[in-house]
Amino acid sequence: MTLQDDLVELRRALHREPEIGLDLPRTQERVLAALDGLPLEITTGERLTSVTAVLRGSRPGPAVLLRADMDALPVHEKTDLPYRSRVDGRMHACGHDLHTAMLVGAARLLSDRRSDLEGDVVLMFQPGEEGEEGAKLMIEEGVLDAAGDRPVAAYGMHVFSTTIPRGLFLTKGGPVLAAADTLTVTVRGRGGHGSAPHRALDPIPAACEIVTALQTHVTRTYDVFDPVVVTVGSFHAGTTDNVIPDEARFEVTVRTFSAATRDRVKEGLVRLARGIGEAHGLTVDCVFGIGYPVTVNDDTEAEFAARTVREALGEDRYFPLPTPATGSEDFSYVLEQVPGAFLVVGACPPGRDLATAPSNHSAEAEFDDAILADGAALLAELAIRRLARATV
Ligand SMILES: [Zn+2]
Repeated sequence: MTLQDDLVELRRALHREPEIGLDLPRTQERVLAALDGLPLEITTGERLTSVTAVLRGSRPGPAVLLRADMDALPVHEKTDLPYRSRVDGRMHACGHDLHTAMLVGAARLLSDRRSDLEGDVVLMFQPGEEGEEGAKLMIEEGVLDAAGDRPVAAYGMHVFSTTIPRGLFLTKGGPVLAAADTLTVTVRGRGGHGSAPHRALDPIPAACEIVTALQTHVTRTYDVFDPVVVTVGSFHAGTTDNVIPDEARFEVTVRTFSAATRDRVKEGLVRLARGIGEAHGLTVDCVFGIGYPVTVNDDTEAEFAARTVREALGEDRYFPLPTPATGSEDFSYVLEQVPGAFLVVGACPPGRDLATAPSNHSAEAEFDDAILADGAALLAELAIRRLARATV
């Protein structure tokens, strides 16, 4: 069996049995089985079912870290794939099953080429990327010190089920993904009869005013080239037409691409909401939930990753990422401490239209596992070449 066949088998086994969050016992078991027999120093997580594997090169040198996330989503799969999820309400809808298989592939390739390795490679298999801060927990449990010294570089990648041509790798220096925070606003008034609003303190019109003002605030306050995305994704108030409720509540996702704007927007949105509430004699509670930070690539590492794609896979396999994406990633916590690069890769299956194919997180998302061997080869090449560069 070729490496590609092996990785497809592993990926489909993971896909059939998706697990969510920080506790992925079956996934961990499969990864450990797939790594069995390789010359790795393996440790597993305490607060999460992570796997950290260290490969020692035949010559001494620094360490490089490669990372894959392994968790699925609470989505009920609606594809007709023969290997579709067998668990109701759970699906590998973001392609993390492919990431896991690629990193296993890289572990095998690197083990075979240990004599070429001028240093060590840390393989980071991470649960809980989808909102559970798995990367942060792995850092707290010591993944960055697993090889002894801090890695000199870290790399990760993400598959896309739409928009990017299959097999094309993209990256750029600077921000590649957004910071994602959540603002919860509760506007408190005083309930009453819908026929006599003057006897009550109606929170609904003021809450609506805040929602529209948020959009104006964004376009009038922040540099268009350091953008802010604000979306009110939930809004709840009241029970029926003739009762004024005591309060209205809504939730906002706030996406930013620099630490400075992230701080400013937090202060600005809260001031705006409180000010509008106050103008109407209402009180406004704002709770800012801090999510993942901006994912920022190191310029030199992004350039190196781009060169590695072109040299290892072919000139036509690389394209510069034109803009950051508005999604977020907890690999950002690793890149806050270690210079590195995050790449995105097209995995839209043949026969699907790139423009309309269901996106990551959709119940109909499909990812072509024909790219697995190339993904594994690229990860391995990044480690080998980066270590060789470090010792020059
Ligand atoms: Zn994802």
